[in-house]
Amino acid sequence: MGKPTGFMEFQRNTIPYRDPLVRINDYNEFQIEVTDSHLQTQGARCMDCGVPFCQSTTGCPVDNLIPEWNDLVYRGRWREALDRLHKTNNFPEFTGRVCPAPCENACVLGITNPPVSIKNIECSIIDRGFEEGWVTALVPEHRTGKKVAVIGSGPAGLAAAEQLNKAGHNVTVYERDDRIGGLLMYGIPNMKLDKDTVQRRVDLMEAAGVKFVTNAHVGQNIDVAELKEKNDAIILATGATKPRDLPIPGRELKGVHFAMDFLRANTKSLLDSKLADGKYISAEGKDVIVIGGGDTGTDCIGTSIRHGCNSVVNFELLPQPPAERAPDNPWPQWARIFRVDYGHQEAEAKFGNDPREYCILSKEFVDDGNGNLAGIKTVNVQWTKDDSGRWNMAEVPGSEKVFKADIVMLAMGFLGPEATLVEKLGLETDQRSNFKAEYGRFATSIDGVFAAGDCRRGQSLVVWAINEGRAAARECDKYLMGATTLP
Ligand code: FAD
Repeated sequence: MGKPTGFMEFQRNTIPYRDPLVRINDYNEFQIEVTDSHLQTQGARCMDCGVPFCQSTTGCPVDNLIPEWNDLVYRGRWREALDRLHKTNNFPEFTGRVCPAPCENACVLGITNPPVSIKNIECSIIDRGFEEGWVTALVPEHRTGKKVAVIGSGPAGLAAAEQLNKAGHNVTVYERDDRIGGLLMYGIPNMKLDKDTVQRRVDLMEAAGVKFVTNAHVGQNIDVAELKEKNDAIILATGATKPRDLPIPGRELKGVHFAMDFLRANTKSLLDSKLADGKYISAEGKDVIVIGGGDTGTDCIGTSIRHGCNSVVNFELLPQPPAERAPDNPWPQWARIFRVDYGHQEAEAKFGNDPREYCILSKEFVDDGNGNLAGIKTVNVQWTKDDSGRWNMAEVPGSEKVFKADIVMLAMGFLGPEATLVEKLGLETDQRSNFKAEYGRFATSIDGVFAAGDCRRGQSLVVWAINEGRAAARECDKYLMGATTLP
């Protein structure tokens, strides 16, 4: 809790983003800096609610001790707040920037008032920790002599590696890409999460003894059988990177791209050469259509606008969510309500309207006659619930339309991890083609091989990847040592 009467005295006041028309000219992070007293006042709003749903798994998948650090921030005891934060979360500088904050949806104050601005407070604690030099490499006091290979360096792999290193094991992280970080590096754009912030944590882990190998595509240029033989355990944290396609007529036309090809190339070029090498898919001067919402869709919108696109439209197959929680979506669940994310805000500022078009089904990519994309033929759909409560979709006759487009990004989700390791290790998969491993045990069908993050649970969130990486490390430590002291 913060100040007992704080929630009655102070209004919620989140850290503002930079002006959309200014920030679209660069790839710097959007948040502006605020004073300590601003944050202390916000921390003071945390009331003595008794049962803090924010820190239960409904609110926070890593069980952050939110009321405790809200109180410490209110009292100006930042160092202790940082220690509390690191107890449950290896990387608060990532979640403090990109987490959708289910904790705020579960905040008890949120039943009647705007919730405590928990995400801002989390981010400020860790940023302050780095500024003050309080965040240092966690070098273990002893080494066990056991070796663990972690495959994949996203948040799940990094969390597992840090925990196993803390337990004294010799950990090597293998990453097929040329930089460490998974989607933290090459999915989420720089304006949401600065890549120096990712690299800073990787450097700390390296200083603590974790080894990183890049351009190491296990199953292709690294033999997985050999890796298994040379290590006492393996953690698979390969993410769910197989994109969902849209196999409609015209799919082969020039100008139709997977969202991740667009986003990855942009960040790589930005980091390699500040975009001077031109090795990215440019949306400059183009009419852009992004198919699919979610974080990936929003990131495509924000990136296209930074390129200087001519227009941007975002197709959503589902209807617009309600403004308020529906009766079947009560507190403290994640609220399925209408939200304006940064990309939509930027599109509105630049083009004067929300780019989202709801209930749109894409039927065909239109050819300009030379094999290039000229537009998309669509039809509107209507959603109705049948007697069993199932939603059905039907096309609306006469609603056919052609949207002009020079470039399309497919951001319709992901279909599990790449199949190579399944074949080479003989792993069992679940119905959604993710690696089969029970939540809580994280053991796959192969002895000594564990799985964590999106490759096990399917496309999810950074905070869940950290949860799974930590928990899989605990199970792996138990497997190696017979017991564990890891949280
Ligand atoms: P990943 O981050 O996908 O990392 C897996 C890594 O494994 C990759 O680096 C991959 O190259 C590597 N790999 C795969 N196979 C091999 C192999 N055989 N050998 C070696 N390496 C291999 N979540 C949020 O909470 N907030 C957001 O704002 C947000 N924005 C997103 C934006 C985009 C564009 C996308 C795509 C996702 C976003 N997410 C967001 C989701 C979040 O990034 C993921 O849930 C999270 O990164 C999953 O972590 P992970 O460690 O399981 O996998």
